Amino acid sequence: MPLIEYRTKEQQKKFYRSPGWIAKTKEIKHRDNYECQECKRQGKVYTDKHDPDKHKRLDVDHIKELEDYPELALDDDNLETLCVRCHNKKHNRFKHQYKKHKWDDEWW
Ligand SMILES: [Zn+2]
Repeated sequence: MPLIEYRTKEQQKKFYRSPGWIAKTKEIKHRDNYECQECKRQGKVYTDKHDPDKHKRLDVDHIKELEDYPELALDDDNLETLCVRCHNKKHNRFKHQYKKHKWDDEWW
């Protein structure tokens, strides 16, 4: 069986729109109690349970990137619920803004 690959944006987009993935995200959010797992690790709780825009602010993240580990795309152990903020941070979308912030001090 050939390995499915998610190398291109187009392939990834297709994956994220697939019914299999959408069903899986519901399962994972439910498993994680609709809480951001990264916030939880930091001792905070982020849940959008009471958000009128229900569940819009939680994403399901691939711990090991979809691109690098396509075989783990739907593996429960490779998936966790993250809030949009942690998700963006993880993928360094705000790298430059965060870089000079004081919490970098912890490393020194
Ligand atoms: Zn979070």
